[in-house]
Amino acid sequence: MNKPWFQVAIGLGSNLADPAEQINTAVQSLQALNSIRQLTLSDLWRSKPQGPQDQPDFVNAVCVCETCLTPEALLVCLQAIEKNQGRIKRRHWGERLIDLDILLYADQQIEQPGLVIPHPCMTQRDFVLIPLAQVWPQDHLPGLGRLEELMAQLDQSFILSPSSTELN
Ligand code: ADP
Ligand code: MG
Repeated sequence: MNKPWFQVAIGLGSNLADPAEQINTAVQSLQALNSIRQLTLSDLWRSKPQGPQDQPDFVNAVCVCETCLTPEALLVCLQAIEKNQGRIKRRHWGERLIDLDILLYADQQIEQPGLVIPHPCMTQRDFVLIPLAQVWPQDHLPGLGRLEELMAQLDQSFILSPSSTELN
């Protein structure tokens, strides 16, 4: 029997060791998986850190793809890619080689210990919503509302530069 495929959005962020390259490496790892297809990556956006300010600026992006993995299995895959790239947990909202978050998984709403979808706080982060708007194919985010309205409600800005053109 054919497996069903589900549309997902994954947030990517890095602020260490050539962040744009870290994001590209993670995307290549995702694309190499048989359980991921039709991946589209947003521009890369430079943003100031949300947590402690004594750390480098971030590069953020969002990719949309289809997966035949369950949300739990996808999280395990993302964590394996993070680990493979050498991610070590330092401090909350602190510096990281690569952070991969499941933002959206089809129209599912999940609240389990260790897995919350839609990703908590994503509606307050311009460095998530702006790249997401470049690649998410619908006007509406499942469980959250219209993208345009969510963007209009943002009251904080982290993004420093408009797009990847200045990163490459
Ligand atoms: P953050 O991304 O919030 O800066 P981490 O990447 O260190 O912090 O994530 C900490 C925990 O968040 C992970 O152990 C993971 O189980 C949990 N988590 C909960 N929901 C999600 C999600 N949607 N995507 C990724 N991780 C998640
Ligand atoms: Mg994370």
